[in-house]
Amino acid sequence: MSVTYLDHAASTPMRPEAVAAMLPFYDQVYANPSGSHRFARQARKAIDEARDRVAEVLGCRPNEVVFTGCGTESDNMAITGALARSGGVAMCPAVEHHAVLEVVERSGGVIVGVDGSGRVDLDGLASALDAVAADSGHVSIVSVMAVNNEVGTVTDIAEVARVVRRHAPDALLHTDAVQAASWLDLRDVTPHVDLLALSAHKFGGPKGVGILVERGGPKVDPLIVGGGQERERRSGTHNVAGIVAAAEALVLTDAERADEQPRVEALRNRLVDGLLAELDGVIETVPRADKVAGSAHVCIAGIESEALLFVLDEADVCASAASACASGAMEPSHVLAAMGVSRDVALGSLRLSLGHTTTDADVDRGLDVISAAVRRLRR
Ligand code: PLP
Repeated sequence: MSVTYLDHAASTPMRPEAVAAMLPFYDQVYANPSGSHRFARQARKAIDEARDRVAEVLGCRPNEVVFTGCGTESDNMAITGALARSGGVAMCPAVEHHAVLEVVERSGGVIVGVDGSGRVDLDGLASALDAVAADSGHVSIVSVMAVNNEVGTVTDIAEVARVVRRHAPDALLHTDAVQAASWLDLRDVTPHVDLLALSAHKFGGPKGVGILVERGGPKVDPLIVGGGQERERRSGTHNVAGIVAAAEALVLTDAERADEQPRVEALRNRLVDGLLAELDGVIETVPRADKVAGSAHVCIAGIESEALLFVLDEADVCASAASACASGAMEPSHVLAAMGVSRDVALGSLRLSLGHTTTDADVDRGLDVISAAVRRLRR
């Protein structure tokens, strides 16, 4: 039986064109791109071309693009690198991915509240920025995600930028745009920030390739030093195949977005409307108008998500929920807690995420299997 894959926010299948683009760099153009011979220059040229293609989609200059090893590394580099360069305080909303949140928390930074959809509270952000200044401190970096990985909420980064520029003109603004590339035209986001992080496996490229845009040149200290690759921004032998494939996937994602957006949105709406019609006690966690097209997130009364995911897994339906088992007790997700969702409601959370390979058949099967599983668990 084939898998019904409703977990694209975790990782989306590679685009065949991206797979094809990477293969020659394993066994044909395999030279180390840092070398001095012609063969190495061939590999280097492929990276330069990939950088140009990525920059075009992101609305930045090629020399502002740094290739890293994953989205987590890009986020870590932005925040750790900003603190290393200028000291001070890092700040982020409470719903950030752990790749941001944990770095800010470990540095003793400031965590800002969010509204019921998970968008940063702009007044709270302004007050927090003012409070650091009033305490004679300085904020070195503010990190606000463009799209939330759990509930799919879109944050208006231009609006965040206005607050940050007004209340902390010297602070860098970083956005984790890892979940945004499939759904938002990043040319509208990049101009508002100093730093922007992406991860290739979220848009049809390979795992293990991240991107960090540093607008206006180096803004932060490098995280990984050594061989001086990426103009001293990120050392380590380039993942040539992965970088080439990431660029191919990003260009295709960008070209298809205008058609994919409404197609996936219609599928998502059918999936959520179907669950609401089939089952009692289903809450849509965030209004659809606040979310990206590929995201469906519901809380289902009377079940625990761990049990539901187990039953779905047995039926080869892939979904997720963001609860973590800490010391034997199920802890609801930090995102839902920050949004003010009660613990009881949050324990029945289910994240279904759709993407470029999702079909009507996936929605039909997802609906059938999830509805039957919830009825069975409730009995
Ligand atoms: N940021 C967000 C919003 C994500 O969803 C993820 C992946 O789940 C990451 C960062 C980390 O990216 P990577 O898996 O490439 O380390």
